[in-house]
Amino acid sequence: MKKITGIKINDGLAFGTVCIREGPEDAFRFPESDTPPIILSENLTPNETVRFGQMGVKALVVTGATDTSHTAILARTMNWPAVSGIKIDPAWAHKTAIVDGNHATLIIDPDEAARRYYQRKQAEAEETKNTLLRAYKNKKTVTKSGKEIKLYANISTPSDISDVLANGAEGIGNFKTEFMYLNSPDYPEEEALFQAYKKIAGQMSGQKVVIRTFDIGTDKTADYFGIGKEENPALGYRAIRIGLDRPEIFKTQLRAIIRAGAYGKVAIMYPMIISVDEVLSIKKLVARTMDELEKEGIPFDRHMEQGIMIETPAAVIMSRELAQIVDFFSIGTNDLIQYTLAADRQNPKLGSIYNPYHPAVLRSIRYVVENAHRAGIWTSVSGELGADSAMTETFIKWGIDALAAPPSKILPLRKKICEMNETM
Ligand code: PEP
Ligand code: MG
Repeated sequence: MKKITGIKINDGLAFGTVCIREGPEDAFRFPESDTPPIILSENLTPNETVRFGQMGVKALVVTGATDTSHTAILARTMNWPAVSGIKIDPAWAHKTAIVDGNHATLIIDPDEAARRYYQRKQAEAEETKNTLLRAYKNKKTVTKSGKEIKLYANISTPSDISDVLANGAEGIGNFKTEFMYLNSPDYPEEEALFQAYKKIAGQMSGQKVVIRTFDIGTDKTADYFGIGKEENPALGYRAIRIGLDRPEIFKTQLRAIIRAGAYGKVAIMYPMIISVDEVLSIKKLVARTMDELEKEGIPFDRHMEQGIMIETPAAVIMSRELAQIVDFFSIGTNDLIQYTLAADRQNPKLGSIYNPYHPAVLRSIRYVVENAHRAGIWTSVSGELGADSAMTETFIKWGIDALAAPPSKILPLRKKICEMNETM
């Protein structure tokens, strides 16, 4: 038996068989037995992570992913126990393993005592989860002093919806639509996008579904977009910058989202905003798209909410003006930290510099909430900080209206908020 400790990415416990990259790209050999695969890799691309989610993978161990890399975020959305910072030994391939995400530990070839210990821990965790489900699944999220918060789930693929419903989220706070593009060999057709969005709107039975337009760029790339290699991709051709530059691609997605609005409470959200002009350009394109749909006799909701992600310092500084022209803000803390502190969210060497609690980040969040409320619009905190229970009380005191978190974090957050006696 071998026990190695790394850096925590996501909690939970999983038993399985080790799958290691055994050749060039994609050459993971899955176990032939019916034990679930555990992926061990230097790193995974977001595309691979999404694909493995659909292949029954149960846990992830990587050498170099940071806490806010898209791979880590996906692991949390799929509720995989996950650990980073572990150097992988090829000799571990196909061995039995346990991933203890709670203590950031990988156990290779566990002995009988370790197996029994972790089986007991798994049963206890299951019992805790069931108790939470019974007590909080169908409850509103209200503090003891009566302040109601909306707890929304983040999703990356339509298949995440079952977890959203199982955990009693009050809506979808951020459907990250770019992953449907990453999984496709070419630009998805309007009809395929529309059917996926419509289905989610229906499954959420009238609860809010915030659909974020594609945030392609940086490490989330699809070859057919032809973006090419960039020196500084996080500061590059990304998200609505692509959408506004190539309106024919953007409009296909806008039409699909707007059409889905006829089948549920759909809102649309734009990532990587830096200016009022960008928002006005997008809104003009949306208005034109709605006019076209009207002429074609296709149903949609003309008053669909339109919001933006606040994830750049420019958007924070302009939040007073931006609040005048949108219906809501979602504070994307992963990127806001990266851009405010000039610290690449993907670089494991910057662990202590990429500091979510830096006063510049926290003051920015507070300032954005104040400007939103002055203009009468609602604001959520998304990104990993939205699920950080150490910050929940502070955010609520600052007047945040909603939090967006991975589905598995909804019930623990609801419990915390319902037990909270905050005074404004
Ligand atoms: C964020 O930046 O906080 C966010 C929610 O978006 P993503 O992590 O997808 O960049
Ligand atoms: Mg972001």
